[in-house]
Amino acid sequence: MYLGIDIGGTRLKCGLVSAQGEILRSADTHSPASRLALESALAALIPQVLEGRIPLAAGFGCKGIIDTSDTTVRTLPGVWGFLTGVRLRDLLNGLIPAATPVAADNDAKTALAGEMAWGAARGRKNALLLTLGTGIGGAILSDGRILRGAADVAGHLGHVLADPHGAPCFCGNHGCLEAVFSARAIEAEAWSLVHRGCASPMTDILRAHPETLSTRFVFEQAALGDPLAKHILHSKLRVFGAVLAGLLHAFDPEVVILSGSIADAGPAVFEPLQKEIDWRVHTLLKRSVPLVKTGLQDTSGVAGAAALAHLAITS
Ligand SMILES: [Zn+2]
Repeated sequence: MYLGIDIGGTRLKCGLVSAQGEILRSADTHSPASRLALESALAALIPQVLEGRIPLAAGFGCKGIIDTSDTTVRTLPGVWGFLTGVRLRDLLNGLIPAATPVAADNDAKTALAGEMAWGAARGRKNALLLTLGTGIGGAILSDGRILRGAADVAGHLGHVLADPHGAPCFCGNHGCLEAVFSARAIEAEAWSLVHRGCASPMTDILRAHPETLSTRFVFEQAALGDPLAKHILHSKLRVFGAVLAGLLHAFDPEVVILSGSIADAGPAVFEPLQKEIDWRVHTLLKRSVPLVKTGLQDTSGVAGAAALAHLAITS
């Protein structure tokens, strides 16, 4: 059994995961605001999930850039910023035996580890994973290994260029994919239509009930035939498809795994995107690279973190 710990979003999650990827026990809490609070939270949660059992290994999935050689957090903006410079394995002192192997990586890479061990990348040597939520996370499986690059930064597919004249991104670059296609970018586009006085059933609802706005709402309105919602999604999916085609040419994957809240929209995302990439890559790749949903039952991040630990000691 493996201990998986997910540090991300607004929750801290821990779980005991079997060698087959089943979550045996899990527990979570609101994100602590300091290292001391985090240590207290882990000291409460981990004994709950272990119930006296000793894991073969432990894994952390964490936002930001993680030094995988020693589990140190290199860069982590936002609410978890207090972890910058912290060696994550030190947080487990006294909670698991000192000799237990501990691995850590960026949470999109641990999600890919989960897919490799128990999900849609199982048995594959080349795959791309993109988590499509408020931002875009990415990870690359290349020739059987998770690509980490010279400084563990590789795989930040949300910061691949989508538009050289595009909006500023939090990373300092302009026109990143994340600034064009994320949930926040879709919502921002809907708002701009309201502000510019464009009329449609969707903008009428948003004017009267601004709190209604979500990416899901835009997808629902598009499904009902709203022309502006359809326009937003059509244009953004086209850009995403074009970027994805470039990634397919660069990495030649067997499969592309899409997860997160935007992927949850299902065929409304997968079908137009598959068409868009197919025509763009046909000449060089001579095949259709399937876009698939996550193959994991658990998408909380715990299984991925446990899979990282599992792969670290078995491969
Ligand atoms: Zn960026």
